[in-house]
Amino acid sequence: MIEVVGLKKSFGALHVLKDINLSVPRGHVVAMIGPSGSGKSTLLRSLNLLSLPDAGCITIGGHRMDFSMGRVSMRDRDLAAFRAGTGMVFQNFNLFPHMSVIDNVMIGPVSVLKQDKATARAQATELLAKVGLAARADARPEQLSGGQKQRVAIARALAMKPEVMLFDEATSALDPALVGEVLAVIRQLAEQGMTMILVTHEMAFARDVADTVIFMQDGFVVETGDARQVINEPREAATRDFLSHFH
Ligand code: ATP
Ligand code: MG
Repeated sequence: MIEVVGLKKSFGALHVLKDINLSVPRGHVVAMIGPSGSGKSTLLRSLNLLSLPDAGCITIGGHRMDFSMGRVSMRDRDLAAFRAGTGMVFQNFNLFPHMSVIDNVMIGPVSVLKQDKATARAQATELLAKVGLAARADARPEQLSGGQKQRVAIARALAMKPEVMLFDEATSALDPALVGEVLAVIRQLAEQGMTMILVTHEMAFARDVADTVIFMQDGFVVETGDARQVINEPREAATRDFLSHFH
């Protein structure tokens, strides 16, 4: 479902992704952990082509992007088609503040997928129910709690029918009391078989919900394995050291 081979990315002289290889089967949940600056966000952004790799190859579902000849110049249409395969949820929600909740969820399907408004509205209503926000369809984002905003952001990403969902610290900006409601939605997606990569600092959640945990450090995948094994009995000293800060 997701295949990354030899991915590299630099910002000037700073080599942020050095040689990333990973493979995520359909329906699997991968939690990515690692210290600040290790390249986690850059890797997620590369999967969405928000950040263009310098080398390597990314396959998501039926789409493949090859950067092995250096940074390729891609047509906007190809970029858009590739991006449509991934739904991304950010730390800070990134909702459109001037639109109602339901319009936030409808806008992508209407403007990008050219769905008619009635269909998009019906789907958005269903998705808002799925994230427990059916009653807030007409609210503005500013009237919602952080946890509610993040659940709208998840519904908005799902509305584009992505093949995979990418979460970059989706709960890090939330009041601790609101983290659980967002994790519950992510857990529900996992149970429904959504393929996901989550960057997270919630180690218990990573252990319990992810199939695989990836530990990144300094632009490399240092350790990857069964979620319980990596969290409970890491093989690498660097992983052990990192995890010791969470106990
Ligand atoms: P955190 O846990 O703090 O979110 P991270 O693992 O997500 O860290 P990245 O955001 O991927 O780390 O950043 C990796 C390195 O790349 C950092 O040194 C960062 O400063 C640098 N970096 C990221 N984006 C850019 C950019 N657009 N231009 C220049 N440097 C960047
Ligand atoms: Mg980050």
